[in-house]
Amino acid sequence: MSSQGAPLTEEEREAAALIQKAVAKMAETQQDELVKAKKFSKSHFKIQLWIKSDRSLQKPLAFTLSLWESGKRLHGGGDESMWICRKRPDAPRPPKPFGVAHRPGTFAKEATPDGCDSVIPGDHAVKGFILCPFCGVRWDTEHIADALFYRLPVTKASEVVAEWYRKLNNDADIYVKFRPEDVRVKMMARLYGVRHARQHKGLVIYPNANLVRDCINGATVESRIKALLLA
Ligand SMILES: [Zn+2]
Repeated sequence: MSSQGAPLTEEEREAAALIQKAVAKMAETQQDELVKAKKFSKSHFKIQLWIKSDRSLQKPLAFTLSLWESGKRLHGGGDESMWICRKRPDAPRPPKPFGVAHRPGTFAKEATPDGCDSVIPGDHAVKGFILCPFCGVRWDTEHIADALFYRLPVTKASEVVAEWYRKLNNDADIYVKFRPEDVRVKMMARLYGVRHARQHKGLVIYPNANLVRDCINGATVESRIKALLLA
């Protein structure tokens, strides 16, 4: 492990071998999950989190969240990004043009210039505009979010992700990507090379089927997501 050239003691060598074995085992499981999730997942949605900070109980967690429809593109080949009915912080208020389709009261949610926080399928966007099927607001796609940035204590972060999970009908795989300094990326680099690790950003997938199984066994969605964020 040392680059100084000092020979390792027998004990150190054994410890290093044990650690490497454990890391390899973890990454192998992770890779299995990844392949399984991609091949067999019947989940309709995907939540992607990209962690941009340290991961600890003490410090707030910075991350972006985006939502995807699984296998929507190219006859099941790719995922399609979804929109969130929420005005971007940098968009004018009220966003112009601000229009509501049909009569007020005919949609499930009330239309407001800040959006109704619903998840809008990608195919509701046409020529730079988008119609929220829940509140009826017509958005310019430039004024509406397709990813959200959060900086929250990890418990609160888990609650926020769980809330989006429920908005996706409890039917989403959770994908987590990490920054280059993260142990997850380093672990992947050691096993699959630096390029692979950089490209996949240490990706960990928590398939919906596993989350459901864990909840049947007594866990809460929040507790499982929190464990995922800290693992
Ligand atoms: Zn809406």
